[in-house]
Amino acid sequence: MTDLVLALDFGGTKASAGVVEPGRRVWRARQVAAVPSGANAATDLAHMLALAQSVLAGDRPTAIGVSFGGPVDFDAQMVRLSYHIPGWEGFPLTDRLQSALRAPAIIDNDGNVAALGEQRFGAGQGCASLLYLTVSTGVGGGWVLGRRIWRGHHGLAGEIGHMTIEPDGPICDCGRRGCVERLASGPWLARRARELLEARPDQGVRLRARVGGVLDAVDARAVAAAAEEGDELAWEVLRAAAEALGIAIGNAQNLMDPERVVVGGGVSKAGGRYWAALRAAAQARAMAGGRCEIMPAALGDEAPLWGAVALAQDHFAAIDLGRSSSP
Ligand SMILES: [Zn+2]
Repeated sequence: MTDLVLALDFGGTKASAGVVEPGRRVWRARQVAAVPSGANAATDLAHMLALAQSVLAGDRPTAIGVSFGGPVDFDAQMVRLSYHIPGWEGFPLTDRLQSALRAPAIIDNDGNVAALGEQRFGAGQGCASLLYLTVSTGVGGGWVLGRRIWRGHHGLAGEIGHMTIEPDGPICDCGRRGCVERLASGPWLARRARELLEARPDQGVRLRARVGGVLDAVDARAVAAAAEEGDELAWEVLRAAAEALGIAIGNAQNLMDPERVVVGGGVSKAGGRYWAALRAAAQARAMAGGRCEIMPAALGDEAPLWGAVALAQDHFAAIDLGRSSSP
């Protein structure tokens, strides 16, 4: 019987499942579906199991790797909670998947799993150490050190989103001030742009045109596009976000000296000016300067799913998923 790894990604708004033969870089089957509105942990799990059965098409997986969009107690293999879907508190997800799908399963949080995915199959291939960041609605991340996920003693390693950039800065959702997430995430940079558009009615002409004059329609994508077109107000906002993230990256580099930094998430697609400002801010602070490459992520939305494959391969190597492509 052919070995099959089942990879599952429990996102806040999307669920995805994929099946791959170990060592292959192409899904045998993969499906993505929106999480039904009003979901709780039980319905979210049932939805995922249906997706899994669909991609398995009657086959039984050899091993299951899982990315969960929220904090995970890795040692206990339990979900701590989801920020988006109620009922996940203390949920024994690994046990439930193992009994439903009759195969060994391993779970971890999405930042860690996506970091492993980029290291093994994406922009960090061949790197023994890597810092991965995702910048979208929030700012998350994960470390791969010695080709393995580094979770930290409390499972909180990689929480770069709540690194302090401005001690007296604006209040973050976590209650602290001046966090990276508060300064660099998509929703907050969009809000900053809306505030400046209101305060400066004669500025931001291109940004206003992009949203048809409807300030509520200003989102991070519109800010990035207007900034690339040379809109000064949009660029002021985007540059501040890039610099906040770059400062965090430079500080993280000084602490851990990774071989590479990989940045993904929607905001990372903000364009060349954004990347130049991000790299300049990081390099100005990092002792390694330009020697550590800061690169865009390569796997996009599939990073957690590919990372789940790598997680299962690493964890269940004993059951001979040995044709793994790990370097
Ligand atoms: Zn915070």
